[in-house]
Amino acid sequence: MIESEGVIKYRLEFEHAGATDEDLQELNVWRSILYNLGLIGQHPELYGGYAYGNVSQRSRSNPEHFIISASQTGQIPDLEQQHYVTVESTDIEHNLLHARGPLQPSSEALTHAAIYRLNPGIRCVLHAHEPKLWHYGLQHGLPSTDPSIAYGTPEMADAILQLYRSGQLDQQQVLVMAGHQDGVISFGNTIDDAGCAMLDLWMQAQMELLAAD
Ligand SMILES: [Zn+2]
Repeated sequence: MIESEGVIKYRLEFEHAGATDEDLQELNVWRSILYNLGLIGQHPELYGGYAYGNVSQRSRSNPEHFIISASQTGQIPDLEQQHYVTVESTDIEHNLLHARGPLQPSSEALTHAAIYRLNPGIRCVLHAHEPKLWHYGLQHGLPSTDPSIAYGTPEMADAILQLYRSGQLDQQQVLVMAGHQDGVISFGNTIDDAGCAMLDLWMQAQMELLAAD
């Protein structure tokens, strides 16, 4: 079964707090690019009308934490500090997440956590939804998680770990979630690296479409 966006599946321990003072400017610039390409957004006819796509960066003040766009912010063109929330700890195996901020974290926060856990050098994770990228990735054998695996589950975290260990994510830090309609993820050791990995895939898919015309 292919599922889409919106439903939070983890148990959330949430502390209501003010906005983070972390510098999110670069992340916001990249998010704007993805939003303008339609890789993040909201459409009444897509994914049950839920907003889709989310971005995060590892905290500079505490590398154990990461800062992620809040749940259902995909439709907002430009995010501000109050649209982000800090994830302070996660227990992926038990689907538990502790977060602090003005709004609750994205439903995909556990998947972001699974990627940060792969390597302390990873600074940024971007999650987008786009049918062209998704189909392109699947057709061209990009690293992908199994169609039976739903987003935001311990199984997804494990599948990502297996992909990483297999070396499939060494070259291009992009993966396709075959069981999450149109879902793709990029990550990198800098925010730019994660953004460029996503744009690279977008370019490849675009070029193929033009060539097919
Ligand atoms: Zn998604």
